[in-house]
Amino acid sequence: MNGIFRYRIKQPVTWFNQAVSKSNQYCLYCGRLVGVGATISSNKEHLVGREFVPTGAFGDGTLFNFIFRACEDCNNEKSNIERHISTVSLYNSPARRDSQIYNDIANRKAANDYYPNKQGVLIKDSDDNLTIAGGFGRSNITFGLSSPPQVEPTYFELLAFRHIQGIFSLITSHNPLTATGTTLLSHDFFHFFGLYNHADWGNPHLIEIMSRVCKFPCYANIETANGFFKVIIRKRSADDGEWFWALEWNKSYRVIGAIANINDNPAVFRNLPALVWKELGIQDGATTRIREETPLNEEQDILFVAQVEGVQIA
Ligand SMILES: [Zn+2]
Repeated sequence: MNGIFRYRIKQPVTWFNQAVSKSNQYCLYCGRLVGVGATISSNKEHLVGREFVPTGAFGDGTLFNFIFRACEDCNNEKSNIERHISTVSLYNSPARRDSQIYNDIANRKAANDYYPNKQGVLIKDSDDNLTIAGGFGRSNITFGLSSPPQVEPTYFELLAFRHIQGIFSLITSHNPLTATGTTLLSHDFFHFFGLYNHADWGNPHLIEIMSRVCKFPCYANIETANGFFKVIIRKRSADDGEWFWALEWNKSYRVIGAIANINDNPAVFRNLPALVWKELGIQDGATTRIREETPLNEEQDILFVAQVEGVQIA
């Protein structure tokens, strides 16, 4: 991992150049050749889409982002997913309460974006389903670790995968102009453990996982776009193949998972304390369960607190 400390957390990092010979040679998402001799189209990709976070959160462009060459297929697919998750996460974000500007942005997006699998249903109107399903206020229920309301679950997993692929390549590649110098993260090593609404960041799983990982060596710890994007990557130990990762999107959702052989159950997620679920009943063959969400106190929040190994945080 010679290149592990090449990124800078306070400014953009770019592997993109108009000349394909001077850009990263492989799409960091699908692994196909996008460099010299490529037979597919490629273009400029921002790891954190500028429209994913609230307009203006990247300021004048001097904050961290990772820019590289990606194939057009992956780039288009990711933009589509980002648009949906941006709308949903901003609509559910506590940042709306803190600022009229963010509130306006969230409302504008939700009034213009349709739910992907419900034809003609705008994000702003998709709340109604919840009231029917549970008869509880939206703020204190959750519908499952990876399928909270209003969200297209497969989109979450794919966007988390893309974000972690980018950061993983960034910190582990030592020369993206060469095949041997480029590290790509394959789906065969990607574990998606769960996605949590901000009102549930203090649930027993997350509390236990935070305390397990807080001593793991940290290889990336990035906060950018005025706090609307965070990512951390840790390794169980220098000679262990298992990594832990966490993302925070728009101050709204935290997503966590691991990098390990897909046939392994990562140690960090074994024997967690049970979450208490209540079954509401069966409708159309699907069981509806609810669980009370547990907010996190600020002083308990250590998920993104870490010094990166060997790097001076300037
Ligand atoms: Zn691709």
